[in-house]
Amino acid sequence: MPPPPSAAVQSGPRAGTLFAWVAMVFGLIFAGFVAWLEVDQAALLATTAKLQTQALPYAIEQQRLARNLEVLRLEGERVISGNTPQARQQALFIVSLMASHPSLLEHREARALAAETESFLAAVARHGGADATALAEWKRLSQRLSLAADDITIDGVSLASSEAQRMGEIVQQARHKLRAVLVLVLLFLGGLLLLIRKLLIRPLQRIDASLAELKDEAAPLHLPGSTLHEMQAVETAIGQLRTVMHEHAQTRRALEQLAATDALTGLHNRRHFMQLAEIEFNRARRHGRPVSVALADLDHFKQINDRYGHAGGDTALRAFAELARETLRHADIASRYGGEEFAFVFPETTPQEAQLLAERLRHRLSEQRVALADGRRLHFTLSIGIADGAGLSLEEALSRADDTLYRAKAAGRNRVLLASAPAGCVLPFRHDD
Ligand code: GH3
Ligand code: MG
Ligand code: MG
Repeated sequence: MPPPPSAAVQSGPRAGTLFAWVAMVFGLIFAGFVAWLEVDQAALLATTAKLQTQALPYAIEQQRLARNLEVLRLEGERVISGNTPQARQQALFIVSLMASHPSLLEHREARALAAETESFLAAVARHGGADATALAEWKRLSQRLSLAADDITIDGVSLASSEAQRMGEIVQQARHKLRAVLVLVLLFLGGLLLLIRKLLIRPLQRIDASLAELKDEAAPLHLPGSTLHEMQAVETAIGQLRTVMHEHAQTRRALEQLAATDALTGLHNRRHFMQLAEIEFNRARRHGRPVSVALADLDHFKQINDRYGHAGGDTALRAFAELARETLRHADIASRYGGEEFAFVFPETTPQEAQLLAERLRHRLSEQRVALADGRRLHFTLSIGIADGAGLSLEEALSRADDTLYRAKAAGRNRVLLASAPAGCVLPFRHDD
């Protein structure tokens, strides 16, 4: 019998502690990711604010300035090409208005260019039109105005576009970070699933399998050690339970064996014999098959006890039991019915076949000399009564076998009689020592 498992020490971490640590680590990592992403979010907000409050107003302002320079140039064109003094004066008036526009006055280069243009055009108007030299000069001035307007427009847009480009870079960077965070979160979840599989699912499957085969006959089992404290405790408990159940089953089997067996001869005792015989009789009745019973009683056994002592009598009883085991077939049921009486059931056997078996047993016993401890040799015989069990209850058949046994005793002992035979008929197997 295997020794009971010692109360194993559960040394692993507790599930609650372990998963609290896992949750804490995940929380810290996740918080780090959020902070990392928030850096970009803050930069994006700052850039957007800068775009709204600085870059875009500046671009609009520069656009307006450029447009004013263009209007100035167009009106200057009208001063140069004006046919009448009135037309020239009207255009010059608008040129003066544009040159003193606040947006132009705030821009140093534009202000200087506008002032130069205004004084040039005023001179042209005073001289009543442009000669060839003035036309050439105007062409240069007109080009400078166009170029200045273009430069101012580009300058206004470039700040906004650099801010927009910065925003694009931040968004791109945030996308990379987000992908990295997603990969890390997926890796963490994968790791967590593997951990759950190893620490919880696998041990639970092992526990489930061992519980499924938790029955009396199951051999003691030591489950491979789990990591978690709680799982170790359950596995230890199952191991102990299986060991206890196994021991309990073994003890029960031993007790059943004891309760069914005659201690002296090892044959079935009377109670167990009656159970087995009842089963055979029921089977024979159900299938209409033959069955026979026999009762045997050792002859003059009291004298054996008197002559050889009780121990000698016991030796004789054991020797007869051994002979019966050797002589009878595997399916035959042999029992110590009480004292020096033995009962037999022969399944699938007619009374005539049972008679042959019983006669073989009687004959062998009559030939046998049992050696005693003191060197003396013991000889004894028995009488047997046989009855046909077909159509009878077990009790009826045994009663008939008992009657026949007494007839065998009365007829002189050491013989086998068949119940159905006419009274007093001695069988041809009679053997006189
Ligand atoms: P018969 O031929 O008529 O059967 O005579 P018998 O002496 O065998 O019958 P009786 O019933 O007078 O005696 C049976 C004896 O068997 C009496 C009893 O002491 C003895 N006996 C019963 N059980 C045991 C046992 O377990 N061991 C021993 N040694 N003797 C036993
Ligand atoms: Mg007797
Ligand atoms: Mg007897």
